[in-house]
Amino acid sequence: AVQADKRATLDLALDHLLAQAPARPVPEAIALPAASPFGSLQIDTGKCTMCLSCVGACPESALGDNPERPQLRFTEKNCVQCGLCVVTCPEDALALAPRLWLADSGKARKQPRVLHEMQPWACVKCGKPFGTQKAIEGMLTKLAGHSMFQGAALERLKMCGDCRVIDLHTNPNEVKITDL
Ligand code: SF4
Ligand code: SF4
Repeated sequence: AVQADKRATLDLALDHLLAQAPARPVPEAIALPAASPFGSLQIDTGKCTMCLSCVGACPESALGDNPERPQLRFTEKNCVQCGLCVVTCPEDALALAPRLWLADSGKARKQPRVLHEMQPWACVKCGKPFGTQKAIEGMLTKLAGHSMFQGAALERLKMCGDCRVIDLHTNPNEVKITDL
């Protein structure tokens, strides 16, 4: 059952060895030395801002998002421990954790799992979720004293992209180019 992709062949061999392993119960995880090509990621959820830069950096699709809500997902089987996500993370929130994870007869490492998730922000006009509560609240705090973001302009930051445009073009107090 040799595959064109070496990693897939290695996975098949691991599945076979796991099925034949004489030691029962099989340990949930085997720690591996640094620079091993299998492993997990440790995430500092207090530092992670859900910017998803690590998802874009991962060449193996081990990291992914969830289009429905702010979530960082991880499929351990795909991770080759290259460390690109670790050096890409602007918050220094990730660390490599080399191991061979054998939970659920090796099935768990093949399933995406949630590394971190946040509450989405709900648009104050239409209720549509966008961004994260943490990110929007942080932006509101930072811009509250800025002269360009007072009154309606600050309120607009709490709206989704669609409502922001509608509000901008229907607000009678907004300065129009024809008034200048
Ligand atoms: S270590 Fe490499 S393969 Fe693993 S999640 Fe990070 S970028 Fe992807
Ligand atoms: S782990 Fe780092 S790069 Fe990934 S979403 Fe969190 S802050 Fe962004």
